[in-house]
Amino acid sequence: MTINSRDLLEQARLEVPEVDCPWLRDAMERDPQHVVLDVREPEEVAQGLIPSAVHIPRGYLELQVEAAIPDRSRPVTIYCAAGVRSLLAGQTLRRMGYTDVRSLRGGFGSWKDRGFPYRVPRALTAEQRERYSRHFLLSEVGEVGQARLLDSKVLIIGAGGLGAPVAYYLAAAGVGTLGLVDFDKVERSNLQRQIIHTEDRLGMMKTKSAALALNALNPEVQVVEHNLHLDSSNAESVLAGYDVIVNGCDNFPTRYLVNDVAVFLGKPLVDGGIFRFEGQVTTMVPGASPCYRCRYPAPPPPEEAPSCAEAGVLGVLPGLVGLVQATEVVKLILGIGDVLSGRLLHVDALAMEFREFRIRKDPGCPVCGERPTITAPIDYEGFCLNPNLPAMAV
Ligand SMILES: [Zn+2]
Repeated sequence: MTINSRDLLEQARLEVPEVDCPWLRDAMERDPQHVVLDVREPEEVAQGLIPSAVHIPRGYLELQVEAAIPDRSRPVTIYCAAGVRSLLAGQTLRRMGYTDVRSLRGGFGSWKDRGFPYRVPRALTAEQRERYSRHFLLSEVGEVGQARLLDSKVLIIGAGGLGAPVAYYLAAAGVGTLGLVDFDKVERSNLQRQIIHTEDRLGMMKTKSAALALNALNPEVQVVEHNLHLDSSNAESVLAGYDVIVNGCDNFPTRYLVNDVAVFLGKPLVDGGIFRFEGQVTTMVPGASPCYRCRYPAPPPPEEAPSCAEAGVLGVLPGLVGLVQATEVVKLILGIGDVLSGRLLHVDALAMEFREFRIRKDPGCPVCGERPTITAPIDYEGFCLNPNLPAMAV
């Protein structure tokens, strides 16, 4: 027995309820858990889509939907161009065990005609489609996520051991603007770990050397060189221009300064540190996570601070720690996964152990607490007489 497309659709209509545009708009406003799923082809999505929609082309639906929507009980409204393919997609999802599925009657055409909000994704060039093709195969990234990466601005403090892998991989991933803060020049002793620099660039400013490496890998990344020593006079104006801050500069004055200014400006901060064979990473989401001062309200007195003598570090360690930081940045930009908010990840490279510690938000914190006592950036001094020597090797 054969059935025609009309029979198929009639059957789908029996299984998948249809909703109209005002219903969907209300559902989106009422319930942030409500998933809006766009099953059109990429060329159709390029003309515009519902702002919060997850995009999985119909042809990839069965293969990608479980990763994109792991919880099968979440409410899902599917749309296509006119409301036909979404019915069939809805039938598929129900068969896969999704319990709360419906289809948007009239599809995107109706949504747009009725004047409901939509956005036009950034148009990608043929080169970008090729370069980021592996991202497009992940529904969690896709063209929408890639556009988000391309539009984002990340500031990396320190173009050294941690800054090198962070900047390199973020450039490769297509983060559109990378700011680098560093006032050092490339030295031969850096090259054991700071893979963004090269023998033939010894003596060059680190930000310049890094910019050459990043643009050789990905010419479309805009690298902004901040050749300066970050202090209370410039930190706010430098950080203000970025969406995410990465701290790869492990000395106390900079760590406290960057923490405080990130809290003042409400910027997410991915903090990392390395020492000998060990490293640590934590992510501070403004308003949600404890900050550095929740744990250590004030820096230790200079006489108790770690020695300013150059510390040893295993050359591969910054790669390990920096790539955890880069991963956190990408997740923050895409809004996917769970970041290390309220968690400190500690890496012991010798034992090859990754351990996690809970960090709690302190309501009495001098910066992010209920009654903050620190409301302007502070320059801590006395840790290192020579600012070129960091307290920890970076
Ligand atoms: Zn705090």
